[in-house]
This record gives sequence, structure tokens and C-alpha cells, in this order.
Amino acid sequence: MATPPSQPLLEGSLLERSRPARTRLLLEAGERLGFAHVGVCSAEPVDRREQLSNWLAEGKHGEMHYLSDRVEAMLDPGSVLEGARSIICVADRYASASEESVPAAPRGRIARYARGRDYHDVLRRRLARLAAAIEDHAPGHRARGVVDTAPLMEREHALRAGLGLIGKNTLMIRPGEGSWMVLGEVLTTLELEPGPEPEWGGRGDPCGSCTRCIDACPTSAIEPFTIDATRCVSYQTIEHRGPIDPEGHRSIGDWLFGCDVCQEVCPHNLPQRRVGSLPVLDPYRPRRDGFDLLEVLDWREEDRRSAFTTSSLKRAKLETFKRNALICAGNALEEGHHPELRARIGALAEDESEPALVRDTARAVLERLPPGD
Ligand code: SF4
Ligand code: SF4
Repeated sequence: MATPPSQPLLEGSLLERSRPARTRLLLEAGERLGFAHVGVCSAEPVDRREQLSNWLAEGKHGEMHYLSDRVEAMLDPGSVLEGARSIICVADRYASASEESVPAAPRGRIARYARGRDYHDVLRRRLARLAAAIEDHAPGHRARGVVDTAPLMEREHALRAGLGLIGKNTLMIRPGEGSWMVLGEVLTTLELEPGPEPEWGGRGDPCGSCTRCIDACPTSAIEPFTIDATRCVSYQTIEHRGPIDPEGHRSIGDWLFGCDVCQEVCPHNLPQRRVGSLPVLDPYRPRRDGFDLLEVLDWREEDRRSAFTTSSLKRAKLETFKRNALICAGNALEEGHHPELRARIGALAEDESEPALVRDTARAVLERLPPGD
């Protein structure tokens, strides 16, 4: 149970304590805030310039220009908080297992991280509380909570802080717990002691000879420890705002928003590999695992807004969500007979009140279907 906002998170001055002692207090405060894992690393720049530059030069970031525009900032936490000396890294669990029953067609699935409350909100409030406590108890020092909102190579810092290891699928894997985790950080000008040392001994390769995620990825987007975002279903269904090449429609399967395949197949996420029973905080508990495709294809803006309230799905615009739903619908029609769905796609293809993206995707989907299906 997290410390209620009415109770102080810290007592006394952090500055009057030794570096290890104040670090311990902050780690304990993070645990009291309900984070599943808390660690500390120094805010030194990340030594990944060459890999990052090569990845960007090959265009593997697609339309995520905010990455290519902020390379220096991404490498140096000092650009997120001037004078930053330390980073408190946190992780929250948002799911506990890979196994699930696949929703029957015609439904589209959403990635697990988007099934509960928006994780940005769930993390942000507690990180802001931790940052405020640092500023209150270390006068003259600054602190800033970050969740995906600033250019920061958060997995690199989480690795340094001992929260987990990086898998071939590029996600953070915590041995004994898996990868269903979201990350957040508090950067501070306060000097802290890096650690604690994880029981698996710091850096290392969590994968060994395993290649399951590479083999299972529907678009062959994974090379060991790097992903071509332009091929990734998660990127295509969330970040990419334009038309999706019809050649790639089938590999999107029934993913309406995101893709969990490379985590579903990862042996670290198998229940038998997990140690103990680790709770998923209430806000992350799934409220829905997907949507009825016919329903989405009928949506107006107000329907999207009310369905996505307090969810990280709100990142998706109506036209891109409908684009995704059309592609999932086409894939469902290849698997089974759904006359109502087919009729709805036909109507959207001709509906001049719909954006060009929706009409053109509907036409492309119809062209792929066998006649008279
Ligand atoms: S999210 Fe899906 S498409 Fe993207 S790398 Fe993982 S398995 Fe491949
Ligand atoms: S599926 Fe295998 S190779 Fe991929 S991240 Fe998990 S352990 Fe590593």
C-alpha cells in the first residue's frame, strides 16, 4: 500500500546524512510509494552514441523524429535536468503473465500496457511526489520526475541501476520476473550511491542461445538487441500516422494497438520462471483487452474520447485507430465469414465524410479479399 499523500515521505534533512544513508532513505521512500523496484545510478552520459547514430542513420526510427532531433539530449541526462548527478530509476509491473485466451474475431487486441489506466499518469504522480520530497529535504537541490516525457535512454539507466537486463527484444527483463514492466525516473542534482547490486550480479545477457522473440516476431523486426521500428507492429499501429503498406496488413493480425508477441513468447515471462507472486498495482489491472471491430468502425470522435479516457490509448487518433481496425477486420475476414463486417468496410470505402486514410485503407483491405467473401 503506497504512503498516503497526507503523510510525509521523508523526515529531516537529506543533506545531513551520508550518501549511502540518504540513498537508503530514498529507496525506502520509493518502495513506500508502491514502485515494484527502485534503484539508483549516476547521471553520467550514456556511452551508446555509435549504436544510436547507426540506428538513426539506417532510418530504423521511422517517423519518430523526436529521437533523431534530440540525440545529444538522449545521451546526456544533464540536458533533462541541468546539473543532474543521480537518477532514481523505478519499475512498475503492469501484467503478470503471458498466457491469455485470444479474443474471438472480429475483435482487435490492444497491448497489455494499454489495458489499464494510463501508466504515464500512474507513475507520474508518485515520481513527482518523490521529486518534491527531495527538493524539500535537500534545500538548494533540484529533482525532476520523468515518464517518457523527456529524451532519456531509460532502459540504459534502469540497467545501470540494477533493475534488470536488456533482452534481444530490447526490453528490460528482470530475471525471475520477466518484462511486463513500465519504467520511470527521478533525476536529481543530489549525489546518491548507485545500487543496490542486483542478485544476478549487474550486467549480463538474459537470453543466452534463445531466439524465440526473433523467430516469433510477425514482421522480422528484431535483430539481436535492436529493433527496426519501421517494421514493428507496435510502431505501425501507434506511431505511424499514414497508410500502412497492404503487403504488411496480414502480419498485423488482430493487433489494434501495439503488439505483445515478443514478450508473450519470452521464457522469462512464463509463470514457471517467475519467483514468488508479484502483485500488479490496481490501476494497471486490465479494464479491457480489445475492442469489437464493428463497433470501432462506427465510431465518431466522441466515442473514441469516451472509450480512451484515462487510458494510454488516447495517443491514437480516430483515423489511425479506424485504419488499424480496418486492417484487423480484413485479417478476420480471411479467417472467417463476417458479412456485416465486410459490408461495413465497403461502406467506409465509399464514405466521403471519412478521412482519406480511412477510405483508402478500406479500399486496400477490400482489394486483398477474395471476391464475394
Ligand atoms: S512488438 Fe511485435 S512486431 Fe514489434 S518487435 Fe515485438 S514482436 Fe515484433
Ligand atoms: S525471447 Fe529469448 S531471446 Fe527474446 S528476449 Fe526473451 S530470452 Fe531473450
